[in-house]
Amino acid sequence: CGIIGIIGKSEVSDRLVEGLARLEYRGYDSAGIATLTGGAIERRRAVGKLQALRETLAGNALPGVIGIGHTRWATHGAPTEGNAHPHATEQVAVVHNGIIENFADLKDELQQKGHRFATQTDSEVIAHLVTFYLAEDNDPVTAFHKALKRLEGAFAIAVLIRGEDDLMLGARKGSPLAIGRGDGEMYLGSDAYALAPFTNRVTYLKDGDWAIITREGAEIRDGAGNAVRREEKLSDASA
Ligand code: GLU
Repeated sequence: CGIIGIIGKSEVSDRLVEGLARLEYRGYDSAGIATLTGGAIERRRAVGKLQALRETLAGNALPGVIGIGHTRWATHGAPTEGNAHPHATEQVAVVHNGIIENFADLKDELQQKGHRFATQTDSEVIAHLVTFYLAEDNDPVTAFHKALKRLEGAFAIAVLIRGEDDLMLGARKGSPLAIGRGDGEMYLGSDAYALAPFTNRVTYLKDGDWAIITREGAEIRDGAGNAVRREEKLSDASA
């Protein structure tokens, strides 16, 4: 029910949880974070309050300077640790708010192509779809855009790709998503309040927008793939 992403200069694990704590008011049943560390995707997830995730992390820290986090309000699949986001394949990690209406068809199609699913969620299909298009030899941005075009329903999404230590991809349709700009760092969040501990320079994506984010900035595109300008605002959300 809430999304956070940081492409940073320093460790992100604590800051991801800090951002998630500011989305607690939306309600959730489980939470998790993923980072790229040593080039690979690693995750920590826990059922229940953020305190449970904090305890998991205290016992098993998650290094990394780029990461995504999620608080989940289950719609498809029970609120278990296995169904908690982020979802991931070897190559792709995703957090998703909303519902992918056509997930069953996409899952069938991908299973027939040999993809093995680990969860009962609608969201996992996003990670597999991007993985599929990457395997077809598309660059990460093209693979992400091809996957987006297949998704029906409502979503805010953040994606990390293995080996791409300076790239975070985001998209929104029906669910809000904002980009934050820091000093040599960039952020993604469900709202400006989640980003307030890090920055007050916030750009709201419009419906159908998606974004290619590096530490230097964000390039925003519309549903057709055209580059678009969205105004950066100074948020008055207090840290
Ligand atoms: N539909 C997804 C799930 O059940 C995402 C729910 C949410 O927005 O938190 O995992």
